[in-house]
Amino acid sequence: MKALVKKHATPGLWMDEVPVPEIGINDVLIKIHKTSICGTDVHIYNWDAWAQKTIKPPMVIGHEYVGTVAAMGSNVDHLEIGELVSGEGHIVCGRCRNCMAGRRHLCNHTVGVGVNRHGAFAEYLAIPVSNVWVCDPKIPTDVIACFDPLGNAVHTTLSYDLIGEDVLITGAGPIGCMSVAIAKHVGARYVVITDVNPYRLELAKKMGATRVVDVRTEKIATVMKELGMKEGFDVGLEMSGNTNALESMLEHMFHGGNIALLGLLGQGAIDWDYVIFNSLTLKGIYGRRMFETWYKMTTMLQSGLDILPIITHRFDYTEFEQGFELMRSGNSGKVILNWAD
Ligand code: NAD
Ligand code: ZN
Repeated sequence: MKALVKKHATPGLWMDEVPVPEIGINDVLIKIHKTSICGTDVHIYNWDAWAQKTIKPPMVIGHEYVGTVAAMGSNVDHLEIGELVSGEGHIVCGRCRNCMAGRRHLCNHTVGVGVNRHGAFAEYLAIPVSNVWVCDPKIPTDVIACFDPLGNAVHTTLSYDLIGEDVLITGAGPIGCMSVAIAKHVGARYVVITDVNPYRLELAKKMGATRVVDVRTEKIATVMKELGMKEGFDVGLEMSGNTNALESMLEHMFHGGNIALLGLLGQGAIDWDYVIFNSLTLKGIYGRRMFETWYKMTTMLQSGLDILPIITHRFDYTEFEQGFELMRSGNSGKVILNWAD
């Protein structure tokens, strides 16, 4: 089968011919229809320091996808050939304390599809049945291809009660933009989002932001005044991975406010006085809840949540170089690669 492979320990990706993955008795073979490109895939393409220490070539990459069941192991008795599916990209051990307690998103031994084992940028993908999510065919397949990052957005955005609350999102990348739509859908009052990229801020407007802020030219405090906000944001969602953005969020929070951190902030330092004197709560978010996030994501889409505007480009899988180039430029939302008609 055709697959997009990190073949060599150098920048780039290679379209290669590899064997169709074998399945064990508890596995499902998925025929991939569409995939979407994640920032992680771009890191792997670029072969940056994170990729060099994490990826062991040759590796089929990719973890955002929609497909249909092509085959299943003998223990799998609740799926049908041809059923529409996506899947959780974190494969967990099932035996650690968190897994045993049903908190699988907190597993201590998580293995990443398309990172630590062969992924979805291929004609077929094999995953354990416990990672398969059966999808509602009424949801557009372009949207299902984005369930993994949408799940990150849903997990983060639903961390705190948002009804009637004012929300500040830092970073209008695909996930920040999806969070705008989710926060509005569940009943937030104002949803303000920051970025330094005008293309992304336009996307955030389309997703329903009350106000977008280009922090290079505008102050969050000015926007708060314009909206008549006196005491700061109730909820903050950090989705830029930039420490300056987090610090500006800390400065503009309601005392006692809640912040969820999804962006990868690395070693960045912050002024802890904001957190302590303003009694803020900070919570790290990793992945998606298995499978409560998948359930909420599905039911919100079934009840009117619309994230289609975030999908800005579609290519055939053979045109992957163009897709990666666009992702690198920052002038895109989600980019879909088609693998089947
Ligand atoms: P992205 O890189 O496409 O988006 C980040 C956005 O932040 C960009 O649009 C960028 O212009 C903007 N930005 C940069 N500096 C800024 C600043 N000072 N203020 C405001 N915005 C600024 O990423 P994404 O795919 O939307 O993902 C969001 C973040 O979440 C990334 O950091 C990603 O690595 C991380 N992530 C974490 C998890 C997890 O499980 N914790 C999962 C997926 C993604
Ligand atoms: Zn575990």
